[in-house]
Amino acid sequence: MEGFEMPQVRKERENTEEPLLSIVIPVYEEQDNLPELYRRLSVVADELLCDVEFVFVNDGSRDRTWAILDEFARTDSRLRTLALSRNFGHQAAVTAGLEAARGQVVVVLDGDLQDPPEVIPQLMERWREGYDVVYAVRTKRKENRFKRAGYFVFYRVLKQISDTPMPLDTGDFCLMDRRVVDTMNAMPERSRFVRGLRAYAGFRQIGVTYEREARYAGVPKYTIRRLVALALEGVVNFSTVPLRAVGWLAALLITVATVIAILQSGMALAGVSVAPVWMIATLLVFLGGLQIGAVAVLGAYIAKIFAEVKQRPTYILDEEAQPSRTTQRVTSSV
Ligand code: UDP
Ligand code: MG
Repeated sequence: MEGFEMPQVRKERENTEEPLLSIVIPVYEEQDNLPELYRRLSVVADELLCDVEFVFVNDGSRDRTWAILDEFARTDSRLRTLALSRNFGHQAAVTAGLEAARGQVVVVLDGDLQDPPEVIPQLMERWREGYDVVYAVRTKRKENRFKRAGYFVFYRVLKQISDTPMPLDTGDFCLMDRRVVDTMNAMPERSRFVRGLRAYAGFRQIGVTYEREARYAGVPKYTIRRLVALALEGVVNFSTVPLRAVGWLAALLITVATVIAILQSGMALAGVSVAPVWMIATLLVFLGGLQIGAVAVLGAYIAKIFAEVKQRPTYILDEEAQPSRTTQRVTSSV
């Protein structure tokens, strides 16, 4: 798998024998998945050479999710369980988990076993090699054809129009180093498209491929309506192309109307009669173009306001090299 936007030199991590790994898991009405998820997570955690904390975020479930988590937490000190006051949605739950996570390394994983926990050791391996973000790329999806086609198109459109370079076919399943999590947590925007913020954060990112399983039990909590909302969130938060498209439409209409008006004037001068209705039609296209152009100007300023309101950092510093102490300073003598 090729690295993604990774011009910097990668350094193998040292002293990483015992980092704390936080596994953030948003759960909304996953009572039938939790026992199997916990069993598989425990097997993986026991095999890893590091301390692990499971950060479960209960996103306002009305089923037995919270009771089951409570039961696990009673006998397992690795569990940390957070309950949101109501259902705030997947992205909000992930955000809560990222803010609560204390690990030097953080993994985000769905609670329905679509993201196999057995991939985590591979993610850790890449982190030890020096990568800061290891995102999981789906090669296969065991979901219905309609949904698969939707995801396929969405990720490709978003990659094309996004102002931030985004990798294809990757969701929130990933590993992040502490400094990436801190960077994301410091971005104050309220509507959070987590995978976009992760891409914005930068650092050394790489993908690891995996096959996305079918849901172990239960039905998807993302309805089509919620998926469309998520897609719009991605586009609106990370692209100004729709706004700029309005400007291009205005330019096109004004140009076409101007060219036709010149032709019509030429014809009139040459004595060819042009029916008034065509002149009025040309004028209407011209005026339409002006109005859309005025909207595009407003849009340009709104895009600026939006960018300012989001308060994303203008740049994110990776490191600052200190001049070596042994280097002699060259001083000029008169
Ligand atoms: N989820 C959540 N809040 C919601 C919807 C979903 O925390 O309002 C959790 C859900 O329990 C699961 C993950 O987010 O662990 C992904 O949800 P789902 O499987 O429904 O989405 P899909 O896999 O279809 O994209
Ligand atoms: Mg799912």
